Amino acid sequence: MSYIQEQFFDIGANLTHKSFDQDINEVLKKANDVGVKRLSITGSCLEDSIIASEIAEKYSSNCVSTAGIHPHNAKEYSPELFTEIKSLIRKEEVKCIGETGLDFNRNFSSPEDQQLSFEAHLELSIDMNVPLFLHERDAHEKFVEITSAYISHMPKAVVHCFTGNRGALLKYIDMGFYIGITGWLCDERRGKHLEDLIALIPLEKLMIETDSPYLLPRDMGIDLSSRNEPKYLGHIANKISTLRTESRELLFSSMYMNSLDFFNLKI
Ligand SMILES: [Zn+2]
Repeated sequence: MSYIQEQFFDIGANLTHKSFDQDINEVLKKANDVGVKRLSITGSCLEDSIIASEIAEKYSSNCVSTAGIHPHNAKEYSPELFTEIKSLIRKEEVKCIGETGLDFNRNFSSPEDQQLSFEAHLELSIDMNVPLFLHERDAHEKFVEITSAYISHMPKAVVHCFTGNRGALLKYIDMGFYIGITGWLCDERRGKHLEDLIALIPLEKLMIETDSPYLLPRDMGIDLSSRNEPKYLGHIANKISTLRTESRELLFSSMYMNSLDFFNLKI
C-alpha cells in the first residue's frame, strides 16, 4: 500500500514578523516536511504587505500573500496609501485582500477609522473581484451590519481566526463566509466553547491557519513561550478531526482543496 502524505494549507501565517527574519527558509522547509505544502502570508499594513508579497514571490511554489490594513492599523488608512495596496493586489503572488475588518477588543484604531478602512477594502475586493481575508473580534454586530451592505456583490471571503459564539458562527455560515480555525481551539482558557461549534461548519467552508508566530496551540506540551510556526498546523487539523464525523482523509483533503479554491490556485 502506498503512503500518501497528508497535505495542509496554512491560510494565515504572519511570516513578516521579525521572529522569522533569520530562519524563514528553515521554517518553510520544516513545514513542508510535515505536509504543510502551501501557505498564505498575511499582510497587515502597507509595509508588511509589500514584504509579504516579496516572500511569496521568492517562495512562489509554496506561498501566496494578502495585502491590506489590519483593523489595528486602520488609523493609517488614507486613499493615497490605499492606491499602493491596490497596485500590490495586481501582483501575481498577491491573491487576497486583507486582513481587514473590525477589532473592538482593544481599539488600537478608533471604530470610525476601522469602518472607513474596512469599507474601502470591501469596495476594492468587489472592483477587482479578489477574495477577502476578514478579521472580527468583539465586533460581530457592526461587522454584520457593514458586510450586509456589500454581501450581494462580494467575492469569496473568510472570517479568519473565528473565536466567536454559536450565534455569530451560524450568521457567518448563513452569509456564505468561509471560516478559518486557529490554535485558539486548543486553548483551555478561552477556546473551549469552540469545541461544540466545529461540527457546525460546512465541510466546504472550513479552512485552517496557525496565525504564526501568535497563538501557539497550548495543548501540544511544548514550552508556551515558543514561537508558533506553520509546522504545527497538523495539530489543529487533528484536533478538528476529533470533533467531526467525516473521515480524517475526507476532512483533510477538503480543507486543502477549499483553500486552493479560495485563493484561486491550482493543485
Ligand atoms: Zn486577524
